[in-house]
Formats: sequence, C-alpha cells, structure tokens
Amino acid sequence: MIDSTFLQSNVLIVDDQQSNIDVLKGLLNHEGYTNYFSTTDSRMVVPLFKEFKPDILLLDLNMPYMNGFEVMKQLKTLIKPNAYFPILVLTADINAESKLMALASGASDFITKPFDLIEVDLRIKNLLKVGYLYQQLENQNQVLDDAVKNRTIELEKSNHDLSTALEKAKEMNRLKTNFLANMSHELRTPIIGINGFAELLRAEIADPELKEMAENIFKSGSRLAITLNLILDLSMLESERVVFDIKEIDLASEISVAFRRFFEAANKKGLSLKSTFSHAGIILETDEMAFQSILNNLIGNAVKFTYEGFVAVDISRKSDYIEIKVTDTGIGISKEFHNIIFEEFRQVSEGLNRNFEGTGLGLNITKKLVERLSGSISVESELGKGSTFVVKLPFRIRENNPE
Ligand code: ADP
Repeated sequence: MIDSTFLQSNVLIVDDQQSNIDVLKGLLNHEGYTNYFSTTDSRMVVPLFKEFKPDILLLDLNMPYMNGFEVMKQLKTLIKPNAYFPILVLTADINAESKLMALASGASDFITKPFDLIEVDLRIKNLLKVGYLYQQLENQNQVLDDAVKNRTIELEKSNHDLSTALEKAKEMNRLKTNFLANMSHELRTPIIGINGFAELLRAEIADPELKEMAENIFKSGSRLAITLNLILDLSMLESERVVFDIKEIDLASEISVAFRRFFEAANKKGLSLKSTFSHAGIILETDEMAFQSILNNLIGNAVKFTYEGFVAVDISRKSDYIEIKVTDTGIGISKEFHNIIFEEFRQVSEGLNRNFEGTGLGLNITKKLVERLSGSISVESELGKGSTFVVKLPFRIRENNPE
C-alpha cells in the first residue's frame, strides 16, 4: 500500500494531558499526516467520532470523567459488529490485568508512556494497514456477494424459462400423442374396409392381371395397417392410456398364433420357424395383446432380416422369471447399434438408402411394453451371424402339467 493513502487517514487523539497530545501531533505532522483531531475531554469522544469518522483512535486509559475502558465501551455501540476499527491504547501504567480488560473492550494494540516515537509511528502505520487490507477484503466480499446474487437471479430466471419450456414441450407432446391416436384410429377403419374388399376381389377375380392388382392392393393395405397399428400402439403407450388385462395365457398356443401370422412370409424365403420349451404347458399371467405385440415385433423382425436358415422362439422358466428368446440366422447387428435400435424411429440402415422397409418403431414399442409388464429386453448379436432378442418377464406362471 502507498504511504500517501495512510497520510490521508483520519486520526483521533484522546488524552487528558495536552503535552502528550502535542507530542503525538508533532509526530503525525512530521510524518505528513494531515487529518488529525484531538481532545483532552473523554466525554467528547462519541460526538467527535460521529462527526470526524476517524480511521484510528489513539486513546489514553487513565482520564477524568470517563476512562479509556468506558470510552471503548461506548464506541462499541457505534461500530458495526464485523467492522474493523483500530484503537491504539497509550498508557503509563499498564499491567497484565488492564491489558486483558483493554483487549476485551476493543483495543487493537498498546504502547507505554513515555513514547518511543518511532514505535508509535510504526504501530499507527501497521494498524492503518490492517484496516486498509480489511477494507479491501470487505470490498472484494461485496463484489463477490453481488456477483453471486446476480448469478442466482440469472439462474432462477433461466430455471423458470426452462420449466416453462418443459411444460410447453409436454403439452405439445400430449397434443401430438392425441393427434396420432385419433388419426390412426380414423385411418384404420377405412383401411380395414379396403383390405377386406381387396381380399374378396383377390379370391373372386379370375383374370390373372386383375387378380395381381387386387393382391397388390391387399399387400399395400396390409403394410399400411401394420404401420398404423405401430403408431397407435406407440401413442397409446406414450399417453399412458394402456390398461392391461392380466390373465393366464398358454405360451405354446400364443407362439402358434404368432407363427401362423408369419408362416407365409417365412415359407417364401425358405425359412423354418421353430419353438422350444423348457417345460410343457407353461402358463404365464400377463396381457395377451401386449404379449402378442411383443412376439409380433420380434418374430416379424427376425423373418424380415433373415435370408436363410431359421427363426426360433425358445421359452424357458428360470428361478423367478420367464425368458423368451427369439433367435434368427439373419444379417445380425453390430455392437454399436445394440442400444440405439431400441430408440424411437432408429434403424441400422437409416435415411433414403435404407435397405429394409419399416418405421423403426417396433423395438421401441416392444421395449416399452416389456417394461410396462415389469420385464426387460436385451439383444445379443454379431454382424453377419444372426441375432437373439431376450425378453424377461416376471415369474407369474404356473404349470398345467407338473413334471
Ligand atoms: P423396423 O424393423 O421397423 O425398422 P424396429 O424398431 O423393429 O424397426 O427395428 C429397428 C432396427 O433394428 C431395424 O431397422 C434393424 O436395423 C434392426 N433390427 C431389429 N431386429 C433385427 C434383427 N432380428 N436382425 C437384424 N437387425 C434387426
């Protein structure tokens, strides 16, 4: 710190002996201090303190009317609790006890009379320096405090903005889900009609060219119906509108029902559909529609992504859950895609160059359904070597035929 800053400090001297005051003033004057005031009447300290706002007080202890301890006691009420105000006590007969008392009353340092002026000068400067550093610290604290306050206000504002945006996004999502559900429903009804009539025409028409046209209408209609069903499933799941109807289902017959749906497609590709069971007559307590939807998506994918070999469903009872494995000998999935394929709309081959038809919704819906039934789904697969999708559903089964 620069000395000139000290020299502008306000110094208040209180001593009942004018001669002591004169010596101290002489010292201050010699050192270059310009703002010093004094009094021999200790009763004047409080009003002088208020008016003069000293940076340091040089205080005698033994004085008539009010001694130094009493003065310090009164000043304490004027100084803010955490503020630093240096008091240099100047006294002739300071013993250990009065030193302790003075410290307790607020003194910062002592010096005994007669003064060694070099010492007095140094103590004053040291105390002023501490005061200056304290003030610097206070200022820094204030700056930090202000910065923290401003940042908190900013954070609160962006928090508020974020939650408003989140609410808006949720509302938009809800609207989207409702829209999808309504549209799928509205579209499904006419498509069922179109497919029904196309199927009739296919059976009735003799002309081969017209028959093929009817066949194509039926195929396109069926594909559209599958897509709509997926969208409807997804929107129902997202809107939490799905209410499960839990009852006992026989897994062997569920697999047959699912296989029947894919028999023609598998046959055309020369694929065999196989099923194995760890136990005979396994019954599972679950929602049949959801279970069929899970099988549908997994077996459908297995058939779609396999050129030769087989698609197998293996059902086995474990200690506290049932495991359904759908295995194929198809194109396989490289490791980097194992998690991604369960996300909405994600496919291994994406974009306009994709090699397979599909919406990228089947596995996402399957995962959501499995999880809603308190189960889990995972995939084991290697590129070019086929895939196995493993579904685990909670063990709520009993066996028809005990082993
Ligand atoms: P989609 O079949 O309609 O594209 P899915 O969500 O059912 O959508 O599957 C996402 C992607 O996961 C598929 O596009 C495909 O890339 C990959 N996939 C799923 N099942 C298999 C499988 N059995 N063999 C190879 N790839 C698969």
